[in-house]
Amino acid sequence: MYGFGIIKSLLLALQHFFGTYWDDFRYGRKRYKTPEGIAHRSSKNARGIFTIQYPEEKLPTPEEFRYIPFLLYEEGPNGEKVDRCTSCGICAKVCPPQCIWIVRSTEPVTGKPIPAPKEFYIDVDICMNCGLCAEYCPFDAIKMDHDYEISVYDRANNMYDKEKLSKPVSYYASIRPTNFVSEEKARKEVEAARAAAKAAQSTPSS
Ligand code: SF4
Ligand code: SF4
Repeated sequence: MYGFGIIKSLLLALQHFFGTYWDDFRYGRKRYKTPEGIAHRSSKNARGIFTIQYPEEKLPTPEEFRYIPFLLYEEGPNGEKVDRCTSCGICAKVCPPQCIWIVRSTEPVTGKPIPAPKEFYIDVDICMNCGLCAEYCPFDAIKMDHDYEISVYDRANNMYDKEKLSKPVSYYASIRPTNFVSEEKARKEVEAARAAAKAAQSTPSS
């Protein structure tokens, strides 16, 4: 029937309207600005219309959410930062808009290249958050961040340097716990296989 769809959509809007009051009645003040309320409104059980009171409250980001890449460093026993990056350049090669620049470290006397980044830049105005750099990095040294609150007044600040890009492995473990556990398991397996191969090579054959 002509117009039936319009009536149906209006009824649906009305249902959502009253559903909002029903959920407000059931959950009271807990519905807003509490982890429990946010979890409920993010779930399939939420009813009615709701508005996120950003920035006072924020929806939790899913683990696979990706924004700007960051570099991982291990925390040494004396608090020193040990970069995972070897400045191999693969991420810069695969980056579709070519927004990564790397300068490799060199040995001061001989000038020989050292597998560590001296400088590392990402132009976050150009980065399209595709995640290819993180996918291709053979050393798990670059990962996609969850932090999306990076607005600035001066765009000159959007050329992130190594200092700004670097975050500890513990931070990565906190935002992507499932990925972290599976990657660490794989890394340990590779290390164990390498150690076994080395031991086999050094064992004299009878
Ligand atoms: S982040 Fe990974 S892929 Fe990029 S230069 Fe460093 S080690 Fe290579
Ligand atoms: S997320 Fe994509 S666009 Fe951004 S730096 Fe990595 S590869 Fe380049």
